[in-house]
Amino acid sequence: ASTETDIVVIGAGAAGLMCAATAAYQGHRVLVLDHANKAGKKILMSGGGRCNFTNLNTTPEHFVSANPHFCKSALKRYSPWHFVELVERHGIEHVEKAPGQLFCAESSKEILGVLLTECEWAGAEIVLNTAIKRVSKTDNGFSLATSAGTITCQKLVVACGGLSIPTMGATGFGYQLAEQFGLTVLPTRAGLVPFTLQPDDKAWLAELSGISTDVVASTAHARFAEPMLITHRGLSGPAMLQVSSFWTPGQGVTVDWLPQVVDPVAELVTERQRHPNRGLERWLRQYFSQRLAAALTDQFGWQGNLQQFSNERLSAVAATLKGWSFKPSGTEGYRTAEVTLGGVDTDAISSKNFEVKSVPGLHFIGEVLDVTGQLGGFNFQWAWASGWCTGQAL
Ligand code: FAD
Repeated sequence: ASTETDIVVIGAGAAGLMCAATAAYQGHRVLVLDHANKAGKKILMSGGGRCNFTNLNTTPEHFVSANPHFCKSALKRYSPWHFVELVERHGIEHVEKAPGQLFCAESSKEILGVLLTECEWAGAEIVLNTAIKRVSKTDNGFSLATSAGTITCQKLVVACGGLSIPTMGATGFGYQLAEQFGLTVLPTRAGLVPFTLQPDDKAWLAELSGISTDVVASTAHARFAEPMLITHRGLSGPAMLQVSSFWTPGQGVTVDWLPQVVDPVAELVTERQRHPNRGLERWLRQYFSQRLAAALTDQFGWQGNLQQFSNERLSAVAATLKGWSFKPSGTEGYRTAEVTLGGVDTDAISSKNFEVKSVPGLHFIGEVLDVTGQLGGFNFQWAWASGWCTGQAL
């Protein structure tokens, strides 16, 4: 069987569906192909089932890319408010959980519902369970050898995402296509991912699995004030996920366990004056759960009454609490990562319509590109913006 259409979009995810509906509204015949048995699986599992679908405070500074300017144009042309307007037009209720972070009040199914309804209204066709075996350039477009036969089109949009969560259908197909057409693919690695620990750190922290505490986590190039979650595998929670996108293997991560205390030495000296017979653990309990206060005391050898602590020793306690460093053994990898860092080098792509400069008619959008958002709804905003700008321009 052979099918001919104007535009083929590979990937029925966030960026692909947005692009397909937008292009079909322009009057084009659009076919979306996906090898999965369901569209938008990552949308469904996102934001703990509520989809953090955008962030009202989106700026280019919320993205990691070898070219920090690339994302500017699309983010400006399709803002978070455009997506909020779309969501509200479909009567979806949403909540602002943290400043700027918008989630569905009910379920992430509603966001997928908006996109599928828009595709239907616009007349974009979605074909699932379809494996793409080969893509070749023809005189006036592209030819795709697929499990559903040969499909020819004038324009091809690659929206097949990154490598995170292979069990949800993630593949490196977008990177393969990019290389086939002579583009550079910058090294990829897991981002927004929990850290795993060296045996020494794991030994005491694994016991504390389930405890969350507000910290400031930092690496050489980034600093995040967010909760940290201790798990039986390592360190997670927003603070660690955020820092992981700026971390390179071998580097250390620094944790300020007491961001709310500006001068712990002064506080500790006062505490020693007032309660010389109390232990340090009692002071720690003002800021930490009993379990965590006890574990910190044990781990760092802070037993004894405060009167036994010299000024020097109190300074050392404060230094540990304000700047504990650990060297992750690694990350949990693509199995649990929310995003993939790196990807198709944006130097070869137009920031206006996402067309490959050297291959007219070929476009790359969404996460497959070397543009990765921080935690908080920025990755979907990138998918919507790159998808919409391309759909408009096709
Ligand atoms: P995807 O949405 O991943 O879509 C790619 C599509 O391509 C998939 O349908 C896939 O099946 C298909 N595909 C892949 N390979 C092939 C192939 N070889 N042939 C055919 N089809 C193929 N971001 C936020 O902003 N907010 C959140 O709350 C949030 N939560 C997340 C939670 C989890 C657990 C995860 C994993 C990610 C989360 N993200 C979140 C990130 C966000 O989901 C992605 O950045 C976004 O989905 C990327 O959109 P995309 O369209 O580029 O790729």
